[in-house]
Amino acid sequence: MKKIAILGSTGSIGTQTLEVVENNGDIQVEALSANGNVDLLEKQARKFKPSVIAVFREDAAKELKERLKDMNIRIVTGMDGLIEIATLPETDILVTAIVGMIGILPTIEAIKAGKDIALANKETLVTAGHIIMPLAERMGVQILPVDSEHSAIFQALHGEDRGGIEKILITASGGPFRGKNRAELENVQVEDALKHPNWSMGQKITIDSATLVNKGLEVMEAKWLFGVDLDRIQVVVQPKSIIHSMVEFKDGAVIAQLGTPDMKLPIQYALYYPERRYLPGDRLDFWKLKEITFEKPDTDTFLGLPLAFQAARTGGSMPTVFNAANERAVSKFLHRKIRFLDIYDIISDAMEHHKVIPNPSIEEILAAEQATYERIESRW
Ligand code: NAD
Ligand code: MG
Repeated sequence: MKKIAILGSTGSIGTQTLEVVENNGDIQVEALSANGNVDLLEKQARKFKPSVIAVFREDAAKELKERLKDMNIRIVTGMDGLIEIATLPETDILVTAIVGMIGILPTIEAIKAGKDIALANKETLVTAGHIIMPLAERMGVQILPVDSEHSAIFQALHGEDRGGIEKILITASGGPFRGKNRAELENVQVEDALKHPNWSMGQKITIDSATLVNKGLEVMEAKWLFGVDLDRIQVVVQPKSIIHSMVEFKDGAVIAQLGTPDMKLPIQYALYYPERRYLPGDRLDFWKLKEITFEKPDTDTFLGLPLAFQAARTGGSMPTVFNAANERAVSKFLHRKIRFLDIYDIISDAMEHHKVIPNPSIEEILAAEQATYERIESRW
C-alpha cells in the first residue's frame, strides 16, 4: 500500500487529493496538515486515521489535540511539525498542497529524506528551482507535477526524448477579466476577481489567475521541471481550459493533453504515475464542445505575465521577489486595502528596488522574501 503525507490537506488541492484517495481505497494517509482549520482536520482525521497531524497554529493544535483525545494520533505544530510530517520514515510521497513560501523548507527536507513529491505548491520551484531540481536528481526522487498545465506537459512527454522538445505551450484561460482593458480594471472588486470561469480553487491562486501572475509562475515552474529555456516557453490563451497544455517537438509534432477541467485527474496521475486508473467524472463530448479557440495573451493589460518573464530572465533571487511581492499584494487586495491594478505596481516596485543575488541559498531566498515584505509594509 502506498503511504502519503499531505501538506495543506484542508485546501482545494488537499481535499481533492483526499477524494482521490477515498475513490481508490488503496492509499494510506499517514499525515495531514493545515494552518488551523480544526473542524475540517477533525473530520479528516476520523475518516482517514493518520498517525500524525501537523497544525501550524499552536492554539489550533491544542484544540485539535483536545478534540481527538479518543484517537491515537500525534499532533505536532509550527514549522518543526510541517517538517516532521514531510519526512516521516513510513511515507512514499509528500503531496505539497500548501499555499505560499512556507512550503519550501518542508519540501526540501522531504526530498532529502528520499520522498517523491506530488508538487502543487508553486513557490517551491519558482523561488528555489535551482536548489530543488539538482537535489531531487541527487536523491533519486521524482517531482510529480500536480498543476494541470505541468501534468499535461508531463503526460505529453511520457516516453518522449526530452532532447526533442522544441517548445512548451502552456495554455491559459485568461481568467475572469479576459478581454478587458486597464481602464475597465480600475475599479474591479474582490468578488469579480474571485469568479474564475472554469476552475474552483483557493483564493490566492484565483486572484493570480485574474492578474496572469499564475501563468507567470507556471512558466517559471515549467522552466525548472522540464529543463527548457524561457524562449522555448509560450503562453497560449484557450478560454475554456480544455487543452491543459502542449509540447511541440523538433519535427513539428504537437502533443497535447485534453480533458474536462478537473484537478482530480492530475492529482491521481501524480499519485499513481505511471499507472492510469479509472476516474469518475465528466468526459469531453466533442459534439457538444464543437470548437476550441485560441488567443494571444494581452500582455499590455495583464502585466503579471511580462513581469514574470522579466523576473525569470533576471533569475537568482528575482523570482522570489516577484513571488513574495505578489503574495503580499494579493493578501492586501483580498483584505480590500489596495485596488486590483496596485498588485502590478507593488510587484514592479519591489523588483526595481531589489539587488539581485545570483544563485541564492535557502537562507538568502527567505531573507529576500522578508525584505520584500518589509518594503511593501513600509510603503503601502
Ligand atoms: P488553498 O488556499 O485552498 O489551501 C491551502 C492549504 O494550505 C490549506 O490546507 C491551508 O490550511 C494550508 N496552509 C496555509 N498556510 C499554512 C501554514 N502556515 N501551515 C500549514 N498549512 C498551511 O490553496 P490551493 O488552491 O489548494 O493551492 C495550494 C497550492 O497549490 C498553491 O501553491 C497553489 O498555487 C497550488 N495550485 C493549486 C491549484 C488549484 O486548483 N487549487 C492548481 C495548481 C496549483
Ligand atoms: Mg495551473
